[in-house]
Amino acid sequence: MRRKVIAGNWKMNMLPNEAIKFIEELSAQVKNTSNEIILCVPYTDLFYSLLTVQNTNIKIGAQNMHWEEKGAYTGEISGQMLKSIGVEYVIIGHSERRKYFAETDETVNKKIKSALQNELKPIVCVGETLEQREAGNHENIVRNQVKLALEGIQSEQLEKIIIAYEPIWAIGTGRTATSNDANEMIKTIRNEVANLYSEEVAQKLIILYGGSVKSENSKELFSTSDIDGGLVGGASLKPDEFAKICLSV
Ligand code: PEP
Repeated sequence: MRRKVIAGNWKMNMLPNEAIKFIEELSAQVKNTSNEIILCVPYTDLFYSLLTVQNTNIKIGAQNMHWEEKGAYTGEISGQMLKSIGVEYVIIGHSERRKYFAETDETVNKKIKSALQNELKPIVCVGETLEQREAGNHENIVRNQVKLALEGIQSEQLEKIIIAYEPIWAIGTGRTATSNDANEMIKTIRNEVANLYSEEVAQKLIILYGGSVKSENSKELFSTSDIDGGLVGGASLKPDEFAKICLSV
């Protein structure tokens, strides 16, 4: 049985005092769940969040990192830096970063390798645009993103990786994929991983769905055969709503 994982992606929201208050309210509500709960917070909230989650079952992730360890990359943060303050997870290749910051499958692959080297667990985002889906190319596009993201990654490292299938047309739009469509795409991803590695590795891999997840649809999505939880944007900004999502399975 794969564990359930619910990860919040706060994007560019929440000041440190808001983050601390949020975590205090959330932790009281989710303390008895065995689901894995992760909050991916802005860099400026990391340290405060790490202190506040001590003695709770909430884990902290960053939303991006650079693949180099250090050097002349003004404004960037490396995996080594994240690890040094106790960060456990890092989102890599979110569609907003691919769209606004020119991230490519190649940079995504470099970041995953660097994250693993620094003992961070990458949450790797893949997903198709609306045009790609309407043209019937979504399966090929997503299979290819998975293949390129995982190039050169060893099978035993897959235990440390989470994949998030996030159809771009469903992110922040209020338009959720049906649980059946999302589950089918996640099966496709699992099948690609089985082709690249083995059925055993594919069956163990945690794959999340992301795209307008909220408490009204999370139970149905997370109860399907292959969706192991969610990467949640907008609905992760309110502690009560996010707690309901965390507790929905
Ligand atoms: C996301 O940012 O990864 C996301 C899925 O956003 P939302 O839940 O707001 O669609």
